[in-house]
Amino acid sequence: MKQPERVAVIGVGVLGASVGWNLSRRGAQVVFIDAGRPGEGVTNWSFSWVNASNKTVSRSYFDLNVAGMSAHRDLAKVIGPDSWWYPSGHLRWAGEPTAQARFLKTAELLAGWGYRVEEYTGADVRRRLEPAVTVPGEARVLFYPDEGWVHGRHLVRRLVHEAVASGAELRSGVAVRDLGTGGDGSVRTVALSDGSSLDVDVVVNAAGPSASHIAGLIARHLPMRAEPGVVARISCAPVPIHRAMHAPHIEMRPDGDASVVLHSREIDALIDTGEEPGQLARLLHESARHVVPELGDSPIAQARTAHRPIPADGFPSVGPVPSVPGYYEAVTHSGITLGPVVGRLLASEILTGERDALLTDFHPQRFPP
Ligand SMILES: Cc1cc2nc3c(=O)[nH]c(=O)nc-3n(C[C@H](O)[C@H](O)[C@H](O)COP(=O)(O)OP(=O)(O)OC[C@H]3O[C@@H](n4cnc5c(N)ncnc54)[C@H](O)[C@@H]3O)c2cc1C
Repeated sequence: MKQPERVAVIGVGVLGASVGWNLSRRGAQVVFIDAGRPGEGVTNWSFSWVNASNKTVSRSYFDLNVAGMSAHRDLAKVIGPDSWWYPSGHLRWAGEPTAQARFLKTAELLAGWGYRVEEYTGADVRRRLEPAVTVPGEARVLFYPDEGWVHGRHLVRRLVHEAVASGAELRSGVAVRDLGTGGDGSVRTVALSDGSSLDVDVVVNAAGPSASHIAGLIARHLPMRAEPGVVARISCAPVPIHRAMHAPHIEMRPDGDASVVLHSREIDALIDTGEEPGQLARLLHESARHVVPELGDSPIAQARTAHRPIPADGFPSVGPVPSVPGYYEAVTHSGITLGPVVGRLLASEILTGERDALLTDFHPQRFPP
């Protein structure tokens, strides 16, 4: 297959940065385009837990996420782990018996699939892993040692910086307004909000929650779910926790040296009731202080409601749309976990025309025209 002359990557979150970095290091001429600043979309408002333990809904999705975890480890060896990669494992425990039975059943399934999981008592966890956490001494706590978390904004900046240093171009603060096609229906031009236009051979739609809008520019319908989530950052130094964890009613992880990120699916459910992000952040903070009392006096620094980029059936949409040659999608929830693997596999498909078996179930064509 002929190497594309020029690839426009539309959207520079974790997906766009990963695809563009892989394309650039394999010799393609890449132009990153972002309406805002790289890494400041959903990627900056994510719980950012790298895992496959929450992905048991189908075996192929689980396998892709396991490959995603490995891809982070591989990437850290190539670009270095500094300031973005935290492979510190993940803790989960429940507050009531039904939830506990569910978690233990999932852990059993995962162990059967060869996924590493260990069980500790709450007392062990306080003694060996997380002294600041008020988990009851007799609680059964699952520890997933191969999981971790990522500082999404730092990862994106690192990938873009490396790609630009080796010849890629970055256009930030300009939005894609239109995509033009040639007589054979293939993508030919990208029109930008500053009035300029780029000639291209390939475009990658990595616009996250706006991916459906970008697909619409080539008259494609990419159905997406509306599933917003609220995330709060708490300022605290020193940071009292060392890893990502799901405690009853609250998820927490460190966010560098001076803050903690909080999220909860229970609080996300209140977004539709019209509560302000600030009020929802106070509820997150209230739940967090029950688990880590030290967080009680720390201020809420930031709170934001963000939209998950989820294709309607819940699975990634990754690959070409054959009716529009040159147009590719990289749209997925769990994009923090999947960014590096999707970036590697999609770049390879763009450059060689060969599709990796891991992507079999996630073809954009499954959504009818
Ligand atoms: C509350 C919450 C919790 C989450 N927790 C996890 C988790 O624990 N683990 C996990 O793996 N995933 C998690 N996710 C999902 C994950 O964060 C996303 O899948 C991932 O960040 C998506 O990255 P992206 O690059 O597709 O999108 P984004 O980071 O949003 O990047 C898209 C970019 O496109 C740009 N853009 C949009 N329109 C245009 C246009 N017209 N022209 C040019 N640029 C444009 C935007 O400015 C943006 O920078 C969570 C998401 C949320 C909301």
